[in-house]
Amino acid sequence: MNSVVCISHVPDTEARIKVAGKGVDETGLKFIVSPYDEYALEEAIRIKDAKGGDVTVLTFGPDRAAQALRECLARGATKAIHIKGDASTADALGIAKVLAAAIKTVPHDLVFFGKQGVGTDNGLVGPMVAELLGYPQVNVVTKLEVGEGKITVHREIEAAEEIIESSMPAVITAQKGLNEPRYASLKGIMAAKKVPIDTKSVADLGLQDADIFHQRVVMVSLELPPEKSGGRKIDGSDPVAAAKEILKYIREEAKAL
Ligand SMILES: Cc1cc2nc3c(=O)[nH]c(=O)nc-3n(C[C@H](O)[C@H](O)[C@H](O)COP(=O)(O)OP(=O)(O)OC[C@H]3O[C@@H](n4cnc5c(N)ncnc54)[C@H](O)[C@@H]3O)c2cc1C
Repeated sequence: MNSVVCISHVPDTEARIKVAGKGVDETGLKFIVSPYDEYALEEAIRIKDAKGGDVTVLTFGPDRAAQALRECLARGATKAIHIKGDASTADALGIAKVLAAAIKTVPHDLVFFGKQGVGTDNGLVGPMVAELLGYPQVNVVTKLEVGEGKITVHREIEAAEEIIESSMPAVITAQKGLNEPRYASLKGIMAAKKVPIDTKSVADLGLQDADIFHQRVVMVSLELPPEKSGGRKIDGSDPVAAAKEILKYIREEAKAL
């Protein structure tokens, strides 16, 4: 049972982002494996542990994206492919074309994605890859069972749960709750250093730059939300007076009651 997991290398969700023009200032910025991709990776590793096979992690990004692959290998992935290129100058379809072409080069039964890449949150790449490969897809998945030649997949929807069966190969996008992602062990970190990363260019996949590095949607501006005001402190030494003051504020200023 072989899986490919597509890994996006995104700015740390804890980082203070500095906007520079229409982009983000990468100076000193820490990058991490996109959090939803961690659920995707964990599920693929659990399937490999139960049924054997390989877990290939795949990323399209600049040199530093190799760090994300090393981290995934340390957690239990067995193979890694790095398609080198400036993914930020491609749109979702460009990224999907690169990933689909790379996925075709490795044996696979399941292809995993995060339900969205944290940071830009488009949620487009997984479904686009499924379409390019002609595979069934189940998105925002919270439970997955692998049977004989088919999968049973759970999705949480508004006030209910959908249970879906699909043939393989299939595309799955992972939602929080699918599992509890593991941390890398020291043994895993050491072993990961010895695994070669298969590094390729877009041209090595038989693709032309012009097919990939295009932006059919254009970001007009990127702005941080306005600074929050400092809030208001009410003296709590007299609780009854403080409660009256709070009620007055809620009624007369916030007009919430
Ligand atoms: C300053 C900065 C630098 C960035 N550098 C990188 C980078 O080096 N590499 C990178 O991947 N992202 C990088 N990102 C994140 C990138 O801009 C997108 O967030 C990311 O590619 C997902 O895009 P999306 O929201 O359109 O994808 P979505 O459609 O929301 O992504 C869904 C899923 O598709 C997969 N996926 C998306 N993009 C890729 C990819 N390039 N390679 C493999 N799988 C992918 C992941 O499984 C992801 O969970 C960077 C973001 C910023 C702000």
